[in-house]
Amino acid sequence: MTFDDQEYLQRYPFIERILISSDEIQLRVRQLGNEISRAYEGSTPIFVCILKGAYPFLADLTRCVSVDHEVDFMAVSSYGGGTQSSGVVKIEKDLKANITDRDIILVEDIIDTGLTIANLMEVLQTRNPRSIRVAALLDKRAARIKDVPLHYAGFEIPKEFVIGYGLDYDEKYRNLPFIGIMKA
Ligand code: 5GP
Repeated sequence: MTFDDQEYLQRYPFIERILISSDEIQLRVRQLGNEISRAYEGSTPIFVCILKGAYPFLADLTRCVSVDHEVDFMAVSSYGGGTQSSGVVKIEKDLKANITDRDIILVEDIIDTGLTIANLMEVLQTRNPRSIRVAALLDKRAARIKDVPLHYAGFEIPKEFVIGYGLDYDEKYRNLPFIGIMKA
């Protein structure tokens, strides 16, 4: 845990504890970047950042990738009310890039039920990319409803609501450099 992490804990007493420190995140992101660089040698993949939560992960990850690549952004929302996502995605913001015959790496903050990413992959498959892989910083595997391929996973975490490093509570706290658990 860095001094910064410690400072945030004092400033935000509603954070119960730090689950993954900023140092741990940066180390793991570097490892994932190296892994992706090796896997995509000779290709120019497009990293697709799923907004909003994945933006810090995209920024850090791509700075650890040594192969040429492009980035693009997508925003999706789930249809239907309730606390759990229905998995039927509505595209709020679509890609600029034509992904036909391209290698795509979907960059997500967290895979929870898996419904959003499964649905999104189905939509993107209709555009005939060469390949689609998924990179997610967090894997809440115990909450999975739909089995999805997760090629590059940062950390497996328990079924708890987390904030920080892109993940929000009421649109706030995305800037925290660590992953924290809020007090109930
Ligand atoms: P799912 O995999 O259930 O379709 O949905 C994944 C999305 O739900 C993530 O991209 C994220 O926006 C949101 N989500 C899931 N778990 C958490 C969590 O613990 N904290 C926050 N802030 N968002 C979460």
